[in-house]
Amino acid sequence: MTKFIFVTGGVVSSLGKGITAASIGLLLKSRGLSVIHQKFDPYLNVDPGTMNPYQHGEVYVTDDGAETDLDLGHYERFTGVTTTQNCNYTSGRIYDSLIKKERRGDYLGGTVQVVPHVTTEICDSIRSVVTPEIDVVISEIGGTVGDIESLPFLEALRQFQQQTGRSNTLFIHVTLIPYLERAGEVKTKPTQHSVGRLREIGIIPDILICRTEKHLDKEVRRKLSLFCNVDEEAVIEAMDVPNTIYEVPLEFAAQELDTVIIDSLGLRAGRRKLKQWREYVDRVTNAERETTIAIVGKYSELLDAYKSIHESLNHAGAAHNARVHIETVSSEDIEEKGAAEVLKGCDGILVPGGFGGRGVEGKILAVQYARENKIPYFGICYGMHMAVIEFARNVLDLKDADTHENNEKTTNPVINLMEEQKKIMNLGGTMRLGAFPCNLVKGTAIRKIYGREQISERHRHRFEFNNDYREQFEKAGMVLAGISPNGMLVETVELSDHPWFIGVQFHPEFKSRPVDPHPLFKGFIGASLDNKGKKK
Ligand code: GLN
Repeated sequence: MTKFIFVTGGVVSSLGKGITAASIGLLLKSRGLSVIHQKFDPYLNVDPGTMNPYQHGEVYVTDDGAETDLDLGHYERFTGVTTTQNCNYTSGRIYDSLIKKERRGDYLGGTVQVVPHVTTEICDSIRSVVTPEIDVVISEIGGTVGDIESLPFLEALRQFQQQTGRSNTLFIHVTLIPYLERAGEVKTKPTQHSVGRLREIGIIPDILICRTEKHLDKEVRRKLSLFCNVDEEAVIEAMDVPNTIYEVPLEFAAQELDTVIIDSLGLRAGRRKLKQWREYVDRVTNAERETTIAIVGKYSELLDAYKSIHESLNHAGAAHNARVHIETVSSEDIEEKGAAEVLKGCDGILVPGGFGGRGVEGKILAVQYARENKIPYFGICYGMHMAVIEFARNVLDLKDADTHENNEKTTNPVINLMEEQKKIMNLGGTMRLGAFPCNLVKGTAIRKIYGREQISERHRHRFEFNNDYREQFEKAGMVLAGISPNGMLVETVELSDHPWFIGVQFHPEFKSRPVDPHPLFKGFIGASLDNKGKKK
């Protein structure tokens, strides 16, 4: 029988609910249970695919082609479990489905209402991830208790508990315990209020995860336990971890959080197995080498916009016993100051996915700098497009070469719209999305890196290498190394006379795991470390 854990947040946002939920998943999995995660986002967009990363951070793409919240990336990285489109629901998606049913006449004669119709739709979506193999579903509710828009979700959870039984459901509330410098003590009142709000809705949390700067002493725990009606051992402290987010589950394990959960739900589980995980954290903590990587994108100050890339670089660094120092560079800065000036301290250059014209010339300058100075270059999606445009302009001498995305008048559209994209009018959910196979040509660098002929990686794009130019590129030394099985799409490019220069149409960052780093990132960091060595 499947059990259900619900993770809510109180007091303020940005408490790290996603990492908390992911950590719980890892701990349960480490005890032999099979888990699946799910995220509910209360906003009205049907999915985050149409949102600016400034608003929402990276869009994480699943194998089955859903554009989802970045927390799904945490879930996959922590548990290694592949998520699906049923793992992320927004209010927009719930309403979209409901309104379609209403138009079809499914509720003929009835008044369609938030309770019970929206809430039932939410309960159904929780059940949509259940299969006979799943022991525990962990559903995270976005937003903060008390928000107007998250109310229907909380009401649905109350309803869900009533239907499924108290012994099969568990509520975990992530909250903030602020420290007041002047008073010299931590304060439990905001948490009491937040739990009070939950109780008004009919939800009684079983476990409190307390984000705090100071250790919570016995007295504070007792107070929280008494006022919030949770067992003392269910008051879990979550302090900021010093080195890496992957330490969080180890901190929880030290407080037996997994045991509290397993006992409360009456689950049968094995002993905790976290050896590989601990080894990873040790490698990160004790890394002896260092390398500096520039991520050249549109968003320089916003870490969440390229979340999975950051994580993948760190995973790969650990594999080389190295700390990766990441510099997020604004491509517009390069346009202003020149590539050499901005990038001179970097051992490797990465241009990530992107859209639109702003800062594009700076990205192309970054590619040129990497190509000419033999600095490791890794182009992901838009970063591959940039590599292709740069090569066309500066090696093939096609001066106006460009992507149709930004320049419809160019006489050399080396990157153009895919055939199947030409008839599409709607912008939401209509890119080429999800995992597709790709064949790697024998003798190429990328084939050696993967060590196999066929790979599968996740995509999110509309534009693609223009096949009319294949011959010209190959003749001049750009190797078209990865091709879709039908031969129609160029999926990866590389330069043969360069130590490490690879562009990929897909997003390898979505599949890197701390204990299983992605081979491309591993290769890239290896080459960057070599490059750094050469400079000395
Ligand atoms: N804007 C490009 C396209 O749509 C690249 C997309 C991306 O980098 N994810 O094809």
